[in-house]
Amino acid sequence: MITLNQVVKQFATKKGTLTAVDHVNMTINEGDIYGVIGFSGAGKSTLIRMFNGLEKPTSGDVIVGGDHIASLSPNDLRKKRQKIGMIFQHFNLLWSRTVFDNIAFPLEIAGVSKADRTARVNDLIRMVGLEGRENAYPSQLSGGQKQRVGIARALANSPTVLLCDEATSALDPQTTDEILELLVNINKELKLTIILITHEMQVIRKICHQVAVMENGRVVEQGPVMQVFENPQSSVTQRFVKDDL
Ligand code: ATP
Ligand code: MG
Repeated sequence: MITLNQVVKQFATKKGTLTAVDHVNMTINEGDIYGVIGFSGAGKSTLIRMFNGLEKPTSGDVIVGGDHIASLSPNDLRKKRQKIGMIFQHFNLLWSRTVFDNIAFPLEIAGVSKADRTARVNDLIRMVGLEGRENAYPSQLSGGQKQRVGIARALANSPTVLLCDEATSALDPQTTDEILELLVNINKELKLTIILITHEMQVIRKICHQVAVMENGRVVEQGPVMQVFENPQSSVTQRFVKDDL
């Protein structure tokens, strides 16, 4: 389970203190696909980056599988991060490495032997449907294929949680559907908890079980997707629903 308890994140800016995440409470159950939706600047990326310690909360607790993320030693945080995969809008691949070597990279860092790496990478390549493209470089791949590499790399160390920051926003609608289908399969087969942030209603509707709606750093509404979108309470949720019709 993942729990956020009164989580606040502030940044010091030239104009003063900016509150990017404002007293957020959240409970995410194991195996759920949990969506966070909000317009640009709502605080989604800042929030998701606190799940794996890329940002430290100003106050409040982020608890992932029993561990208080902000209290972990650097060494324990490094180990914990191996169990929390992340994928990005612009894929963040290593451009000078092949598909195979991109996926092998987190295994190298974790000290996995060469033989075990090869076996694991081959399994991952099959899982994400990239057979035959092992030796290609990222620049030779389509957007959808690049995100498949990103997903395989994120899954290399068998995480229990996958964080997705606008993972389909750079993709066309058909490719978006293919990647969402892959995420659903991974969620079912690996019993992986997926936290997905997006500004697209369709992404939430298609694959999420639960959703939180963010505005100005706050969660203004949260619950099962059907419930939230069928009877939207906040004006921001009403806007998303209206724009989606
Ligand atoms: P988008 O949909 O555009 O990606 P978002 O919902 O992910 O937006 P965030 O990137 O979390 O929003 O930003 C929330 C607020 O925090 C914004 O006002 C942003 O400018 C501010 N912010 C984020 N990171 C920093 C930082 N490192 N320093 C100062 N301000 C920041
Ligand atoms: Mg963002």
